[in-house]
Amino acid sequence: MRDHTLFNMASGPVEGTLRTLSALSRQIMYHHDPEFIDLFDDTVDKLKDLFRTKNDVIIMQGEALLGLEAAAVCTIEPGDKCLNLVSGVYGHFYGSYIKAYGGELFEVRTDFDKAIDPGQVEKAFKENPDIKIVSMVHSETPSGTLNPIEEICPIAKSYGALTIVDAVSSIGGIEVETDEWGIDLCCLGPQKCLASSAGVAPVAVSEDAWKKMRNKKAPVRNSYMSMLDMKEKWLIEKDKRKFPLTIFTNEVAALNEALLQYFEEGPEAVIQRHKDSAKMCRAGIKGMGLDLWADSEEICTTCVTAVKTPSGVDDAKLRRHLYDKYRILISGGFGELVGKLFRIGHMGKMAHPVYVAGALAMLEKSLVDIGYPVKLGSGVGAALETI
Ligand SMILES: *Cc1c(COP(=O)(O)O)cnc(C)c1O
Repeated sequence: MRDHTLFNMASGPVEGTLRTLSALSRQIMYHHDPEFIDLFDDTVDKLKDLFRTKNDVIIMQGEALLGLEAAAVCTIEPGDKCLNLVSGVYGHFYGSYIKAYGGELFEVRTDFDKAIDPGQVEKAFKENPDIKIVSMVHSETPSGTLNPIEEICPIAKSYGALTIVDAVSSIGGIEVETDEWGIDLCCLGPQKCLASSAGVAPVAVSEDAWKKMRNKKAPVRNSYMSMLDMKEKWLIEKDKRKFPLTIFTNEVAALNEALLQYFEEGPEAVIQRHKDSAKMCRAGIKGMGLDLWADSEEICTTCVTAVKTPSGVDDAKLRRHLYDKYRILISGGFGELVGKLFRIGHMGKMAHPVYVAGALAMLEKSLVDIGYPVKLGSGVGAALETI
């Protein structure tokens, strides 16, 4: 097993706390064990508090993409006009689900270093008031940007459309108000800001979303992706319940422990810690003379910082050097962004000044090592000034 002198400053999964790790390694349980059932119910309650919702929360048994794909397959009726908002790799990718499940795809697009303009969404609805579903990404992890979903979702709801939000990398570190903002299907990834394991995909589901799922000509049932199965077999009176499939008990235990720590620290403190880490990281990057990927700092997300690859630098070589020589792991570009940028994650436990300062300091040193001119201390010094 590897010695953990490594800083995992990647874009998720990140390092778990010792408490989360020990929950992950507790005894494997039978999913109908009454003790597990209590743990499962408690996890659902905690998730509702996390999502800030009174709606149902289901825990899909798979990675975050399962929650996102299930949201599409369960709600889209072939022929539905679906508006997909694209400001990055994940937004772009969602369009493929819409097409695969028969939706008529409409898009509002912007460059991947910008955020979606709510005015463009309003315009799309004026042109097509019968749009049934709007899908969007909150925090575009691959490009380090944040979309103003708190303004976009109410526009969609005012036209009676259903909202699907990929909040995979935001919830647990960035403010999300599922009910207040009008999010019908809100998808989380525990491996991002909650620093838990990637094996489950919690999704908050509104009454409007259940209605849309039930009203489909052929509602999705008896499927691994069926949210209705989960609701109708599980979210009912305790003695009638049957899980539609075997539950990953250890993943649920780890998620529960990660949530417990989130509430012990307090949501406001956690959100502030992510903001402070991101501010520190951005100051460090600019201080060493590099450029942020995002068009403006106002649209930067706070779970990861995306940095333009400096000209003449091979980002893969830089990252490899940082990893081999200084035991710090950061992420490269993803999808269309490979080579154009690299990313320093600061989510969960890693959203802490010690980790951010360490990553910035060794990034400067690595740049110098590979022959790129940086004045040692310029970045980390500027970062420390923000604290
Ligand atoms: C991490 C992430 C996902 C899930 O993608 P995986 O790479 O499969 O973990 C989806 N959306 C966003 C915005 C993410 O950050």
